[in-house]
Amino acid sequence: MSRENDVRTVFLDEAGEEYLGDSSEYVIQPRLFVCFEHEILEFVLSGKQWIGRPSKGQVPDIPITNKYVSRRHGFFETKNGKVTFTAAESTNGTVFRRKKLKPGETVELWDADELIIPTSGDDDGVDVMLVCALVENRINIWRDLRLSARDALTGLPGRNAFRTWYLMNCSYKDEDLCLFILDIDKFKRINDVYGHSAGDKALKVLADQLLVTADNKGYICRWGGDEFTGILLGDASAAKKALDDMRNRLSRIVIDDQFSITVSAGVTPIGRSKDADDVDSLVMRADKALYEAKENGRDCVCVVDQ
Ligand code: GH3
Ligand code: MG
Repeated sequence: MSRENDVRTVFLDEAGEEYLGDSSEYVIQPRLFVCFEHEILEFVLSGKQWIGRPSKGQVPDIPITNKYVSRRHGFFETKNGKVTFTAAESTNGTVFRRKKLKPGETVELWDADELIIPTSGDDDGVDVMLVCALVENRINIWRDLRLSARDALTGLPGRNAFRTWYLMNCSYKDEDLCLFILDIDKFKRINDVYGHSAGDKALKVLADQLLVTADNKGYICRWGGDEFTGILLGDASAAKKALDDMRNRLSRIVIDDQFSITVSAGVTPIGRSKDADDVDSLVMRADKALYEAKENGRDCVCVVDQ
């Protein structure tokens, strides 16, 4: 099949979502999938976009928080479904079809083409892989791949993906952010009384409600078992209110016409604390507030300072 037959026109609304315009013909907007450690991030390719390592003062269009990525590593240009990449002067460079690109060199990217940003050969280094997806099938394959790395029951990312996502998205942000950890109250009893599959349903209901809470303002992960963590935009009182609202919604949902669940949560602001880059240390901090919430009789949210 020719490439022309594969590519159709896409119209994007203000949020970057595809929609069918008046024309019966539509085009898929090319995508870039950034594969790094346990997470696959998706970016819509459109116009000229710099890729690079973000800093507090400068956040490129495609930010990748990784020490092997230079601040201005290179740029993509997308026009009429055609994508090119131009390498900039960078320490580690970019490899395309096994050859390192020279600074200023431009290559045209076809569907499924990969660009690799290599490590310096450190033992603990992992290459960053950029994959260009120009056709609907390819975009769907990468979305499926990302899903398969997620928790099968709730569809949420697990803790490894969460750590990577956090590093990539939050460590350079200057805005108020909070991390929370949340645990279902007396969940063992729910399993014992109503059965394991009813317990599974409760986990899915909770995951859906947490996604509503995070909406476009956060990120949710299944930390393990009946524990969920997440990032919410805003200060600690905003995060507490969002979680209290979620608890209220949850209390009105009756599962299998038989029971509802309650949860306890601990919240910590991230701020500019020393451990702001360390998800596990933040989770430990929020866990202290969760413990307090359990001690206070459960079904509540407690906040701990930095
Ligand atoms: P607490 O209020 O102190 O949290 O009491 P709890 O009974 O909820 O205690 P805990 O959080 O330690 O128990 C977690 C339970 O979650 C234990 C396990 O049976 C259940 N669980 C973990 N993963 C799953 C799952 O995927 N499905 C179901 N149905 N249950 C799970
Ligand atoms: Mg529990």
